[in-house]
Amino acid sequence: MKRGNNEVIIVERTSYKITTEDEGWKKVYKYNFHTHTSDVSPCGNVSAEIVVREHKEAGYQGIAITDHCWPGFVDPRRGDPWRKTYEFFKSGYAAAKAEGDKIGLDVFFAMELRFDENYNDYLVFGLSDEFVLANKNLSELTLATFREKTKDLDVLIFQAHPFRNMMKLMPAKLLDGVEIFNANERHDSRNHLAEAFAKEHNLIGISGSDYHELHDISRGGILTDVRIKNEKDLNRILRARDFEVILK
Ligand SMILES: [Zn+2]
Ligand SMILES: [Zn+2]
Repeated sequence: MKRGNNEVIIVERTSYKITTEDEGWKKVYKYNFHTHTSDVSPCGNVSAEIVVREHKEAGYQGIAITDHCWPGFVDPRRGDPWRKTYEFFKSGYAAAKAEGDKIGLDVFFAMELRFDENYNDYLVFGLSDEFVLANKNLSELTLATFREKTKDLDVLIFQAHPFRNMMKLMPAKLLDGVEIFNANERHDSRNHLAEAFAKEHNLIGISGSDYHELHDISRGGILTDVRIKNEKDLNRILRARDFEVILK
């Protein structure tokens, strides 16, 4: 199998071994980079602890917790100190990480960010606590100003489900990639259009379950040959396109 070209393949839902013509069966690592916890995301119905156990059971090596960060759910203007609000925002991740450390699932911190300018959602990887704490009113930025502010940082921005209703497809130059497969069954994400858009603009394509409910398990994700150790590693693998995308 060719590597480094963000090759799209379809694999069985719970499979975490893939076969290649020349190498036979080999171990790969399965990840889901779009998960919500009910601890933080009111639309999520599964607690961080159970999210982790479910993914472990389903053969994932790791997940990124991408709770929703926008004032509807996490409001920096409600009066609490931003540090306290942000601590609440990270509590889903923290609980997931604690459980993951216990049972052997790798848990990474990320966020699904929305700006006041429209209803778009972005999966953002690599934001440091320092950056978030220094930018209290994240939602008041636009994608363009957020991009500008993070351009020298190791931050990756993916437009989530860009072809769902209410979404506005953003210029490719403001994005590192898009979700070319979003497995959420409660929305029509028109994934085939996202995949075509990614190809046309040479954007990185990722896949995730958009996990909110127990039955969202085992849909979507990516496969890698190497185990991802931390958020830095995660960004490196994404940038290098050194993974396959699960399209079911
Ligand atoms: Zn949600
Ligand atoms: Zn989501």
